[in-house]
Amino acid sequence: MSATAQADDKKNAAREQGRVLLVTDDPARADCREALERAGLAVVGVAGSAAAMVELHRSRPHLVVASSELRRITAGELARSLAQSADAMPLVFVGEAESGVERRRAAIATGAFDYFRLPAEIELLLARAAQLVALRQAMERLRAEADRDYLTGLANRRRFRNALGQEVERWRRYRVPCALLLADIDFLKKINDAFGHSAGDTVIRHVAAVLTEHSRDNDTAARLGGEEFALLLAGADAPSALAAAERLRRDVCAQPLEGIGSVSVSLGVAACPAHATRERDLYAACDAALYRAKREGRNRAAEADAQT
Ligand code: GH3
Ligand code: MG
Ligand code: MG
Repeated sequence: MSATAQADDKKNAAREQGRVLLVTDDPARADCREALERAGLAVVGVAGSAAAMVELHRSRPHLVVASSELRRITAGELARSLAQSADAMPLVFVGEAESGVERRRAAIATGAFDYFRLPAEIELLLARAAQLVALRQAMERLRAEADRDYLTGLANRRRFRNALGQEVERWRRYRVPCALLLADIDFLKKINDAFGHSAGDTVIRHVAAVLTEHSRDNDTAARLGGEEFALLLAGADAPSALAAAERLRRDVCAQPLEGIGSVSVSLGVAACPAHATRERDLYAACDAALYRAKREGRNRAAEADAQT
């Protein structure tokens, strides 16, 4: 398993306990908090109706339990703003009023999962909370996997595309630079032919591990497909990106692989704003530089042409 995948797994383990946000204006709802905690859930925030959205972003819950008797916001408004800020965040309403068919139907109509009368139906609330937290956690796991390359644990093309868009946007708004490295394994076809496809996979994982070693917290190391990789360096300018590419190139071939020997990559380097200031242009400039590195003999890094 790659270092990135391991780090993510650690994070997941630490986050296994379900997190619940309570939205209520009523201090007497402490009973609800205690019951949720007894059931093994972490109540990560208790917010009045005014602070609910702020608290939602801060505490990143798996489930929102909201009083249906809020002062500043109707149940429907809360459900709508929740749906806007957190994609498919499970919500249940609680209150003192009878939980007849009509009230439950109304809760469901707003987008909530159900309504429970407290304290009479606390056990039902806890059962439903456990179920919804598990559902949300499964969604989060699936979402993380959908962004990850299965062979290497690196980000996949989809996540890379989002990250590239965000970094270029950061340049446009805040003038924070970024740089892109594209790396392509040299002669992987020959390695496959000589040593077998699984040896080729070992080479791919080796390059991924070196990329991971070289990426910092805000960088994105990705496998774009086949034997092509990207490293998006947040905050980096052209000289530091070129230096990073050179270190990467050196480290890939410095560690010979058992039964295969030493392998190499060619790299293209382009920085925003030095070489381009639009996502598409940055990628194209970097790709052209990579192509030049290949043409000029491989196992080297080439810098993109200056912006014209
Ligand atoms: P170059 O130095 O020009 O990049 O040569 P190359 O052989 O690496 O490049 P080419 O584009 O000709 O071929 C890419 C090879 O990468 C062929 C393909 O079988 C191999 N490849 C792509 N994806 C995988 C993979 O997931 N596993 C393995 N083992 N090989 C792969
Ligand atoms: Mg290729
Ligand atoms: Mg190649």
